[in-house]
Amino acid sequence: MDMYDMIILGGGAAGLSAGIYASRGGINVMLLEKDAPGGQLLLTDNIENYPGYEHIEGFELAQKFMRHAQKFGLNMQYEGAENIKIHDDHVEIETKSNIYKTKYLLVAVGSNPRKLGIPGEDKFRGKGVSYCATCDGAFFKDKNCIIVGGGDSALDEGIALTKFAKKVTIVHRKNDFRAEPYLVDLAKNNEKIEFLMNHEVKEILGEDKVNEVLLYNNKENKEYKMPIDGVFVFIGYVPNSKILEGQIELENGEIVVDSFMKSSHPRVYAAGDIRRGSVKQVAASGGDGVMAAIQIMHKLRAEG
Ligand code: NDP
Repeated sequence: MDMYDMIILGGGAAGLSAGIYASRGGINVMLLEKDAPGGQLLLTDNIENYPGYEHIEGFELAQKFMRHAQKFGLNMQYEGAENIKIHDDHVEIETKSNIYKTKYLLVAVGSNPRKLGIPGEDKFRGKGVSYCATCDGAFFKDKNCIIVGGGDSALDEGIALTKFAKKVTIVHRKNDFRAEPYLVDLAKNNEKIEFLMNHEVKEILGEDKVNEVLLYNNKENKEYKMPIDGVFVFIGYVPNSKILEGQIELENGEIVVDSFMKSSHPRVYAAGDIRRGSVKQVAASGGDGVMAAIQIMHKLRAEG
């Protein structure tokens, strides 16, 4: 079994940025990605804050990252890690078909959408319930939809959904938003968007697809039903770190790292949304990946 210098888990902004630096740096690096490369970029409609681009679509930026990595010959394999064993001097990664050994592991696997955990959510997933307006918005042309959540994702995706939907109602459990004020203003100025503050979704109902939701007004302590075609859930993300539990330090599922992106184990680094303290921005995740790749290359040089 070959020993890699560095294996990167995850092909989002963090993993691909690390891959660009590491492959250009000439080390023996491989990136493992279980789905399509791009990560959260593929779920983001419009990006207006990636330096150098006043506006770019998430998909297009993901393509640019990929092509850039390919230019330097990054070895990418489409496999997911099933098991990870961390040893003193190397790390083993088991996929469905292979076991890989590496001197250093960079974990850049990001996170998955958090679920509401209410009746009907799983039953109607793909039948009116979605976690990505950018991906599924086109299925809701001229339909009435709700967005659940009050952070940047909810507002951003709510605005994106108005390209297709007839009306988008943002349902938020509090009376004020966590989202950036500029996004709140954009949503308030969008004539297709309405707001239901102090509201919670208690149940998603329908027959073969969603046709109504049971809402709870937590200010007036009242429940009522609202007819609806689509329910989009944006209530944060859960880090994909289960595979590392008990092996390195985690806090609320996020990997604890130092300022060089090193985890509590010297052979494991983390970058992007998965690491504690991430600001969950494309540019910052890219920066994390770059930092980790450079640190790992320093370590490899020092080891000779
Ligand atoms: P956040 O964690 O920021 O917000 C989650 C929202 O969901 C909060 O309003 C929260 O409510 C609500 N919520 C959480 N759990 C529940 C629940 N069980 N039921 C109902 N509501 C719930 O997540 P986001 O995905 O919005 O953002 C994640 C990160 O990504 C942030 O750092 C954000 O800034 C960044 N981001 C940036 C973007 C940009 O710059 N354009 C775009 C998208 C994301 P409450 O407020 O009551 O806790």
